[in-house]
Amino acid sequence: MESSAGVVRESLGEEAVELLSELLRFDTVNPPGNEGPAQEHLAGILRDAGFEAELLEAEPGRPNLIARLEGDAPGPTLGFLSHVDTVPADESEWSFSPWSGDVVDGFVLGRGGQDMKDQVATEVAAAAHLARNGWRPARGELKVIVTADEEAGAHKGAKWLCENHPDKVRADMLVNEGGGALFEIEGRRFYPVSVGEKGVFRFKLRAHGRAGHGSVPSLGDNALLRLAPTLARLVEQPPPEATPAGLELLRRTVGREVDQTNPGDLVSALAELRRIAPQLVAYLAEPMMRVTLVPTRIHASEKDNVIPSRAEVVIDCRVPPGLGADEVRERVAEVIGAHNPQIELEFMEEVSGNESPFEGDLREAISEWLGEVDPDATAVPTVMPGFSDSHWFRKAFDSCVVYGFHPQRELDMFAAAPLVHGADERAAVSDIEFEADFYSWLAQRILG
Ligand SMILES: [Zn+2]
Repeated sequence: MESSAGVVRESLGEEAVELLSELLRFDTVNPPGNEGPAQEHLAGILRDAGFEAELLEAEPGRPNLIARLEGDAPGPTLGFLSHVDTVPADESEWSFSPWSGDVVDGFVLGRGGQDMKDQVATEVAAAAHLARNGWRPARGELKVIVTADEEAGAHKGAKWLCENHPDKVRADMLVNEGGGALFEIEGRRFYPVSVGEKGVFRFKLRAHGRAGHGSVPSLGDNALLRLAPTLARLVEQPPPEATPAGLELLRRTVGREVDQTNPGDLVSALAELRRIAPQLVAYLAEPMMRVTLVPTRIHASEKDNVIPSRAEVVIDCRVPPGLGADEVRERVAEVIGAHNPQIELEFMEEVSGNESPFEGDLREAISEWLGEVDPDATAVPTVMPGFSDSHWFRKAFDSCVVYGFHPQRELDMFAAAPLVHGADERAAVSDIEFEADFYSWLAQRILG
């Protein structure tokens, strides 16, 4: 495109791809993160375009970026949220350099291509492109928030920002990672909107016995053997829960209402979905709709020749939003046998999940955009089995609607998922153009 001044200007898509290449070349592997140079680069781009940009750090060299573009009239604050740090990459497992940034055969190559420098690049490019071309919100404010330290607990990133600078990062609507990659069921097209994240209620199950010499079994009462039958029962998982997002997902995919007075109907609706979309159920629908119990570590005797008087297993337990410690105890009792007095349960971590409603302006805007760009597709709510920065913003700001939505379709959900934290991570150029178009459209749709 040529401007009136005769200067060749890039299209938004080209600008986003170029910015992604640049970002992938900054090594922001966390730990240690070292997000400073990448954040300075982004701040410069946004400032040059007309944003007020600020870097706030909990630790020297690891800033978070907050950039604002205010409108003339009062109105909602729309935030583009992302994180610029990445997980490590073992170069020996990759067929190209994890810090390449090169564009090859329609893909931009490097660690962060999916999680989530692609979204950093498309959100920042869309915001900067709009502002540079003279757009200002007619009402409200556009905020760009790029955090550090997401991959190692957000203690220097989103959690710290929400706790220490709530007024700077407050927003009414936020778009973050966690959803947006297309999946198909029998030719029907769906874009997931991640409305929530599960909670983490890790606990230990502990059995007691009596120590004794390892050469004579009858001298002791082996706590490990007391724990073993309980451990074996964890092959089963608790039954599915009738969560709002789960019921809506079933309504839009299986195409029917679940009879909530009959617990068997939820199980059979999930089974119907499993028949037509087994991967979707295994990787997303089932985990999002149930308390999951995964034994990860076990500990018993300190010595090879001592019968253990105590044995413990750590259970990584993830819980749908709205459920807490009481429900976890109930579900565990259902699986391991009600109130087994020989087994103690002790929580190590109690972090509730949270979710935003799948209704309102942001949801309507997403459906409207899909109606223009992929008219046969449907938006469906999902809940992340894992964790992201969205959690901290929902927790800090009651009325803030936070969705994970990062639309892509060339690399669909099942093509993209193994690349996240995996080898040969990359983004499709066509997806980058698609995403950047969405963020640009969304800012204008919500803020005028
Ligand atoms: Zn991420």
